[in-house]
Amino acid sequence: MVEKIASGEVVVASPGRNFVTLRLRTESGITGLGDATLNGRELAVASYLRDHVVPALNGRDAQAIEDTWMYLYKGAYWRGGPVTMAAIAAVDMALWDIKAKMAGLPLYQLLGGACRERVLAYAHTTGSDINGLMRSIEKAQEDGYEAFRVQIGIPGIMDTYGVSASEYYEPALRDSQPARFHWDAETYLRQIPKLLRDIRAQCGEEAILLHDVHHRLAPVQAARLARDLEEVRLFWLEDVTPSDDQDALSLVRQHSTTPLAIGEVFNTIWQCKALMEGHLIDYIRMSVTHGGGVTHLRKVLWLAELHQVKSGLHGPSDVSPVGMAASLHLDFAISNFGIQEYQQRPALIDDLFPHAYSFRDGYLYPGEESGLGVTLSDALTAEKYPYVHGYLPVNYLMDGTVHEW
Ligand SMILES: [Mg+2]
Repeated sequence: MVEKIASGEVVVASPGRNFVTLRLRTESGITGLGDATLNGRELAVASYLRDHVVPALNGRDAQAIEDTWMYLYKGAYWRGGPVTMAAIAAVDMALWDIKAKMAGLPLYQLLGGACRERVLAYAHTTGSDINGLMRSIEKAQEDGYEAFRVQIGIPGIMDTYGVSASEYYEPALRDSQPARFHWDAETYLRQIPKLLRDIRAQCGEEAILLHDVHHRLAPVQAARLARDLEEVRLFWLEDVTPSDDQDALSLVRQHSTTPLAIGEVFNTIWQCKALMEGHLIDYIRMSVTHGGGVTHLRKVLWLAELHQVKSGLHGPSDVSPVGMAASLHLDFAISNFGIQEYQQRPALIDDLFPHAYSFRDGYLYPGEESGLGVTLSDALTAEKYPYVHGYLPVNYLMDGTVHEW
């Protein structure tokens, strides 16, 4: 029996931060949800879906997921990029949601079934100094976390990446113009190895520690840092060089055995193929929401498996609970799972996106509801929670040169 797509609706709402959610409906009334949230560029994806994608879906077989993925990817001629791939991802998630609901199974069962009993999550911890950071880690430990991304203020740099006053981290800032952040690599490189050594000493040998450089170093600087951090035994050093320059990591590899992760801004397999084939990374950080959905990310993760690269799927608070659910079903069903980024959300978000997945004692569970296991509350409307215009910050060197944020 062919179950045809009958309609699609794009919900843009801002319950504390902007989310873009696609809801597809079949002729017999089955609904599927997809996350299309692109932090700071939300309306571009909403328009791509409303104006270009949804009209082209009406009447298509809702179960032909691979075929529809190719129809949207190859069929548009213009391909790739975060706007296009977030839109395709939303359609893909919604179709997997529908198919799993039709089968009466949680999505992970359709993806091959559970490869593990639980999904290790890591927390964002942050502090302007060691004492502040340790308080942040202690709070995460009280919530049960065993793994911590540690970001700490650097004296001499006024707004270090990842050091946030608010717990609800990194929404696009609500300004008419992008905020101006600052960066100096030498100041950072002089101080961060000692800071991370001190954090390791205070946390003990058992703690799982990660650190994110947000693409800011030149290859030789990154190589020096990765070498200097070996004794800290990070779980991973993330985004240590600009993501566009895949060869950069070969220099880092030549000088260090610190594990490397990259990929949260990648949106196709072509951006990580050479990194995997060259064994230049240990963890791939793409997200379901920005990486073309379950269908495409599954291919990325299969390629990763061939090269002993593990998953570390992107999951900050700008991935909606719909995208998080899709990540968890994938995490559960792949053999090369590594770790999952996870930020607990304000209760309002959980209330507006009721979900079957759960977090307990540092681990995540996708839940046993059929489909993705997420619904949209009727209260989540554009009228009640209107879109808020905002930008991610722009990062500058001390002399005013625009740099990677
Ligand atoms: Mg990151």
